[in-house]
Amino acid sequence: MESEIITNNILIVDDQIPNLRVLTSMLKEKNYQVRKATDGETAIEAVEIEPPDLIILDIKMPGMDGYEVCKSLKSNDATKHIPIIFISALSEVFDKVKAFEVGGNDYITKPFQEEEVLARIKSQLTIKQQQNLLEKEKEKLKQEIGKRKEIEASLYQSRALISSIVNNSLDGIAALEAVRNHRTGNIDDFRCLIVNPIMAQIFNQQLEDVSGKLVFKRLINKVEPNLFGDFVGVVETGISWEKDFSYDYKGEKRWYSCIAVKLADGFSVTVRDITERKKQELELNNFASIDGLTGISNRRIFDRTLAKEWQTCQREKQPLALIIMDLDCFKKYNDYYGHQKGDNCLIRVAQATSKVLKRPRDIVARYGGEEFAIILPNTDREGAIATADMIQQEIKELGIPHDRSEVSPLVSVSLGISCVIPTSESSPKTLVDMADRAMYTAKQQGRNQAIAYTSD
Ligand code: GH3
Ligand code: MG
Ligand code: MG
Repeated sequence: MESEIITNNILIVDDQIPNLRVLTSMLKEKNYQVRKATDGETAIEAVEIEPPDLIILDIKMPGMDGYEVCKSLKSNDATKHIPIIFISALSEVFDKVKAFEVGGNDYITKPFQEEEVLARIKSQLTIKQQQNLLEKEKEKLKQEIGKRKEIEASLYQSRALISSIVNNSLDGIAALEAVRNHRTGNIDDFRCLIVNPIMAQIFNQQLEDVSGKLVFKRLINKVEPNLFGDFVGVVETGISWEKDFSYDYKGEKRWYSCIAVKLADGFSVTVRDITERKKQELELNNFASIDGLTGISNRRIFDRTLAKEWQTCQREKQPLALIIMDLDCFKKYNDYYGHQKGDNCLIRVAQATSKVLKRPRDIVARYGGEEFAIILPNTDREGAIATADMIQQEIKELGIPHDRSEVSPLVSVSLGISCVIPTSESSPKTLVDMADRAMYTAKQQGRNQAIAYTSD
């Protein structure tokens, strides 16, 4: 920048050739580039073609005088910044006020004093240069401010975007920061950094009562005390966590699916209300587990329950008993009374059987068309035989006439009983086979009776 002074370009405008010569040689010696013009019109043209860094302008000239040239240049945006130094002879009448009014920056008087001329030129060039620098700085600052504004706008936009996503989500969303004990470093609680309206609603809280507050532990303990430890685990291990849980929300049981992911020294959590889906599932499950005609458990539930009870009784070394029951001469019942009456009979037999079973783990299932199976956990052979007798009695007491039966005037059943303490060498199938065989024996021995399996 400093070296620019040397190559500065100066235009001298004077109608008197000797003046031009003196100034030119003076300036060239100081390494200024010099251009010359002998009248105002030529000077303006020269400035327009290539603007100089400074103009030395004579006042008294034929045609346009110096004031007019100056006025013209200062009224043009492209040239108004160029400093102008007027020249006037000491002998001439020189209006200094007018010189400054038309925009002149300084003046020198003839005859020239070299030091003064050079000092004034240098001073104007320096001022000009500083103005240039200032302009450049201003321009830079403007650009910087523009950039800042852009960044701020995009930051604002992305922040607005994120908060609109979070606030309009149908899932509960929260971001929490661990609050650690100063001495032990253990997590005492979590502070809610971000909580969206749905999350606040799930906790049955006002948004402002949760956001930024240290209330998480208290709230989560109300839902399920184990959850707090689960979330601590997520932060300490970095392993994400997923769980479905239910709790009473305003007196109604609601289901939530919850996912927690570690986030810095804390975690983010999303909670989705899956109550409707869960209800449908439960309904479907229920539907799939109940026999459509009799309303008792179906074959699928029988298989599942038997497998489960087999394991439980094996672990507890408790006897597990099974009764398989089949209606006697039921084909003839259907043929004589009709299918509708047959169905009603099956429903009443199922109800009578259920009535006999008192323990919560006992179940009766519809095993086949007119066959039922009764699972009696923790029940020994004698207990099972007693239960079978009671069922037989209860069905007899229904008093359903069966005119075509070969064995009784009323609807009757044959029952096969088996009972074992389950071991890993045997399986539920052996228990079923034994009960089946016992039932077959009961049929063979005249029906309308209960037989317990024996190995011979
Ligand atoms: P047994 O004394 O040897 O058991 O003779 P049964 O006639 O009962 O045995 P069988 O297996 O020959 O016939 C079973 C009959 O049960 C066939 C069918 O008419 C009747 N049955 C099976 N499922 C249903 C049902 O869902 N509704 C009705 N109404 N009858 C059924
Ligand atoms: Mg049968
Ligand atoms: Mg039968």
